[in-house]
Amino acid sequence: MAIKPILTAPDPRLKKKSLPVASVDDEVRQLMDDMLETMYAAPGIGLAAPQVDVLKRVIVLDIDREDTKTGPLLMANPEIVEASDEDATYEEGCLSLPEHYSDVVRPAKVTVRYLDRDNVQKEMACEGLLATCVQHEIDHLDGILFVDHISSLKRNMILRKLLKTRKEKEREAAEGKPAKTSAMGKEPASA
Ligand SMILES: [Zn+2]
Repeated sequence: MAIKPILTAPDPRLKKKSLPVASVDDEVRQLMDDMLETMYAAPGIGLAAPQVDVLKRVIVLDIDREDTKTGPLLMANPEIVEASDEDATYEEGCLSLPEHYSDVVRPAKVTVRYLDRDNVQKEMACEGLLATCVQHEIDHLDGILFVDHISSLKRNMILRKLLKTRKEKEREAAEGKPAKTSAMGKEPASA
């Protein structure tokens, strides 16, 4: 397994649409395993292949909360086949938009159909944080970020700050200063 670098917004590669996999073969399994390791290391609760610069419809999740414990979930070609009329609001974060969070409204319950690590088609009913996370990850496969669900004013503010942070890091790296580590633990989970 290998940890892959995670792309951060604004990056045009995060806006591209990913292609379905023909089947879950050894190459896709390797990608799933690498993505899971990358997600745990970040740390995050979900990761989509385009976030590690692979335009394939593959996502991984692992939610470990008081009310939701999923264990590792590896999904290829995931699609929402059913969504509730009822909505839920969660404060979302994203490994590609580090240290920025915003409330996002999505269907409260969804059913997702996907191929598992053994190329077997499965369906899973999701609610709570899992429903939010699955929808967040599938959005990535269509080039959609959680900030695309909020006001353009707030979106542009977040993207401008990310660009500024990236430039500061590049300048500090050029000057040979050690990279600052962010305070972890207080923030909501990122995916
Ligand atoms: Zn994300």
